[in-house]
Amino acid sequence: MFGFDYFVPFDLRTLFRLIFITDLVVCAMLLAYREQGGERRLVHHFVLARVLHAAGCLLIGLRGDIPAWASVDVANTFMYFGFALELSTMVGMRAKHRVLSWLFFLVAAIGSLAIIVVGTSAGRLVGVASLSVAALFAPAAVVVAIAPGASRLQRAIAAVYAAMALSFLARAYSGFVEGHSTFDRNLEQFLGLIVMYAYAVAGGIGFLLLMKEDDDRRLRHAATIDSLTGILNRGAFFAAARTAMETGARAGRPLALLMVDVDHFKRINDTYGHPAGDRVLQALVRVIAGGIRPADVFGRLGGEEFAVLLPDAARGDAVVVAERIRLSVRGLVVSDLPQISCSISIGCAVLRPQGGEDLDLLMSRGDEALYDAKHNGRDCVIVAGDAAAAAPSDAVKV
Ligand code: GH3
Ligand code: MG
Ligand code: MG
Repeated sequence: MFGFDYFVPFDLRTLFRLIFITDLVVCAMLLAYREQGGERRLVHHFVLARVLHAAGCLLIGLRGDIPAWASVDVANTFMYFGFALELSTMVGMRAKHRVLSWLFFLVAAIGSLAIIVVGTSAGRLVGVASLSVAALFAPAAVVVAIAPGASRLQRAIAAVYAAMALSFLARAYSGFVEGHSTFDRNLEQFLGLIVMYAYAVAGGIGFLLLMKEDDDRRLRHAATIDSLTGILNRGAFFAAARTAMETGARAGRPLALLMVDVDHFKRINDTYGHPAGDRVLQALVRVIAGGIRPADVFGRLGGEEFAVLLPDAARGDAVVVAERIRLSVRGLVVSDLPQISCSISIGCAVLRPQGGEDLDLLMSRGDEALYDAKHNGRDCVIVAGDAAAAAPSDAVKV
């Protein structure tokens, strides 16, 4: 019942025309999306690829009504170069395979020549044309699927490419071996063209969604990462620190917090200028990041104030880390500012073993200890007393 005639109750020429219309719809959607986001260069490449593909399909759909050279040679050349441009855009976007990107164009050029040289009969034409399409899509499917960190969406696109390669291989067989011509209604032709229709739709949607994936990633990055220093911003630090605290509390593990403030930073700005101050902050973050573990949560709370949450760190561990950081900042080297001398004060708060303490309380104890560090002459580490929260007199100078 659901045979060939059920899905394609029209001649295959019409299917080519339908694919032409689908390509144009995809182009319109892409150009509309470009207004809001997406990398313009990529969208331009993809749209040009689809315009070439659309033109190729239209010319094939017009076979018999226009000269053969236009409907065969020009149409196939447009089609191959359209595929090559689309695939190199996709592969460049995800797999960053420069050589392969150029190879697609080489295959397109060889395919265009092969049509003229080999496509001397209707069957051989279908054979060689289909083989070129399979040669374009097979490597693209593999590279997109195995790219490092491939998303589920990427694998879905790779599956469409693989389906293109396989169905066009079958179509090449039907041309070379069985001598079928372009509009013959047999299973291989049917499969090839239905898959190409699916590709016209899914390839376009897939590309749109990939761009959206990239835009989302950029937005997430902008919302959570401090643009000057590249570490977590205030909001993201709180979120990550809360998660780390919950995980630690469930496991009954110790935890410590370091509140870090640059000493007399205003003087650095006043002496060397604000841009130099920025570079000092960047160098400082690099030095601190080098002195902590990957599991530690490091964020910029604002201005020249930072916080480091140390999961699994008891008082002794936290003091060792804090001292290490403090001393490394003493030796800070900033390019173009060899004479700079910079120090930090650190207030350390250790999670009370009896529990019942949240991040806000821990931070306020860390702040108190930092305040004490400033009043103790700066360039030192103070640990907030364990017994009475927020009591400066309990603070211990290390
Ligand atoms: P203290 O030792 O008491 O902390 O003194 P301080 O000068 O570091 O503290 P204060 O809070 O008076 O000054 C902080 C300065 O940090 C003032 C502000 O202009 C500067 N600042 C804040 N954010 C930035 C930034 O992103 N870049 C630069 N260059 N300076 C910043
Ligand atoms: Mg300061
Ligand atoms: Mg400050």
